Amino acid sequence: MGCQTTVMSGESDHGHDAEAVGKPDDGEIRDADIHRVLVDYATDVLWLLHPDYTVRYVSRAVDSLLGWSSEELVGGHPMQLAHPADVSLVEEVILRARAGEPGPFTFTVRVRRKDGTYVWVECRSLRIRDPGTETFRQGVVVTMRDITVRKKLETELAALATTDPLTQLANRRAFDEALANCWQDTLSEDGEMSLVIGDIDFFKNFNDSFGHQAGDDCLRTVASVFREIARDVPGALATRYGGEEMAVVLPAVGLEQACAIGEGLRARVEALRLPHGRNRGGFPFVTVSIGVATATARAEHTVPIPQSLVFAADVALYKAKRAGRNRVSATYPETADRAARERVGLPPAVQ
Ligand code: GH3
Ligand code: MG
Ligand code: MG
Repeated sequence: MGCQTTVMSGESDHGHDAEAVGKPDDGEIRDADIHRVLVDYATDVLWLLHPDYTVRYVSRAVDSLLGWSSEELVGGHPMQLAHPADVSLVEEVILRARAGEPGPFTFTVRVRRKDGTYVWVECRSLRIRDPGTETFRQGVVVTMRDITVRKKLETELAALATTDPLTQLANRRAFDEALANCWQDTLSEDGEMSLVIGDIDFFKNFNDSFGHQAGDDCLRTVASVFREIARDVPGALATRYGGEEMAVVLPAVGLEQACAIGEGLRARVEALRLPHGRNRGGFPFVTVSIGVATATARAEHTVPIPQSLVFAADVALYKAKRAGRNRVSATYPETADRAARERVGLPPAVQ
């Protein structure tokens, strides 16, 4: 352990050439050098922190991970390297350790490189236990590992799990999540939210005329309209609700604005003039019918949101279909504010 004490205390010569360590005449690594070789060649960064969490020692791998030399970091506080958004997480770990929890604590944070960029790392911190007495000794050992690749894969996987592969809109799972979150925000802000559902008119006929492949292309094109319209509304999410139905979740949007957004969608799809020989509504091109519904936090005790909002938008969509398609229709969930409902005049369908 004498060697470990020497290395960890920072008394070793950091400027030495690792290749030369333990190579007297025969190339053998001397017993006395074993710990230093292991620490120097570990790709994870090893930190030894004082009880006040200042750095007593940090292994040489920190140079390639963060661009700082060991010497630059010794005496400093590693918290200064944490991303501002991750500081509270590190503080929590320190508090738990100070409260007597032995650890190990594993946490994932971003740390600042010398060049100012951040890198995702996984840290595992452990208080040092005396093997003889099983009591804790002064200081903490932290192992730090680069997890950039893992984070990237996680992000890609999360995107895949919430994206519809055909249209690249958010999928049904993301829709359910967005609707629930949006309703929570609506409640906490005592506000309102809306839902717009669009359905391509006589799309079965389109497929029958032009084939499934052309139907897929059509879905992609209509989806891009939904995506673009949602992009202009803060917090809005365009989703493929199912089949040839797409929906936009609209946080903090009332019925009038939601109807205007619905009308924008309808008009933009119509303006594409995508040929549709068997769209029986009298339009020779692809059209969508739109259902709109709005919910207010005031009606929370009577409206079992979000299911009733989806139901109300579906009812409105059905009304638009029955009234001749290529139009916008709206309903409030049944028990919502009547006065607001009467205030709203729906935009006329464009023929
Ligand atoms: P309506 O105006 O009443 O909505 O009539 P519709 O024909 O659009 O409605 P219906 O529900 O009868 O048919 C929906 C069609 O949408 C049938 C299905 O083949 C088609 N569809 C659903 N998903 C896809 C898809 O991913 N690709 C293609 N090409 N077609 C799809
Ligand atoms: Mg449908
Ligand atoms: Mg349809």
